[in-house]
Amino acid sequence: VFAGPIAFLKSAPDLKFLPDMAVNEVAFAGRSNVGKSSLLNALTNRNGLARTSNTPGRTQELNFFDVGDPLRFRLVDMPGYGYAKAPKDMVRKWRFLVNDYLRGRAKLKRTLVLIDSRHGIKDVDTDILDMLDAAAVSYRIVLTKADKVKASHLAEVRHSVTEAIRKRPAAHPDIIATSSEKGMGLPELRAAVLESVTQ
Ligand code: GDP
Repeated sequence: VFAGPIAFLKSAPDLKFLPDMAVNEVAFAGRSNVGKSSLLNALTNRNGLARTSNTPGRTQELNFFDVGDPLRFRLVDMPGYGYAKAPKDMVRKWRFLVNDYLRGRAKLKRTLVLIDSRHGIKDVDTDILDMLDAAAVSYRIVLTKADKVKASHLAEVRHSVTEAIRKRPAAHPDIIATSSEKGMGLPELRAAVLESVTQ
């Protein structure tokens, strides 16, 4: 299905711009610069499908991509968070948009939360994990940039992340390690996306 048509549908800076709930959705979340655009592009084998989002003050929006013709499911690129210099009202806007989306979206089957392999789960990430748990939206951790760390460090991060999510009600216990650069973990990620939207 990832070899077939995938097309940008629309951006929603606000809930009134959300597309209809025609099909299941799987969303991607992560702090700015975690490698979300790179991973979406690698996942779909399309350069430039998702654009880098780490520009300060950039509009916060949800981006929807239609997968398959006929339409099978949607990928949703959530706005990045944790940008150090983000103004307060931008952070507030992010929280409102993301919270409203998570709480009102029956077709959202799972969110993949991207975490940098070098850093593990940081304070900036706990906000989204709390929101997902509170909204009872299933999520799964995807480690990014795994090529940047040694195998021993990756094993440690896997372990610490597993511990960190153990008691979180909506967390999927299995973690996927990926590298957009090296193509690592992409088949597993594709399978996880398909599993999410076909459940
Ligand atoms: P976004 O802000 O989360 O969309 O992050 P980007 O996809 O723009 O990536 C941020 C930076 O990390 C860019 O300089 C990318 O080239 C780099 N990057 C992304 N993925 C990888 C990866 O798998 N390996 C390495 N080494 N660098 C990566």
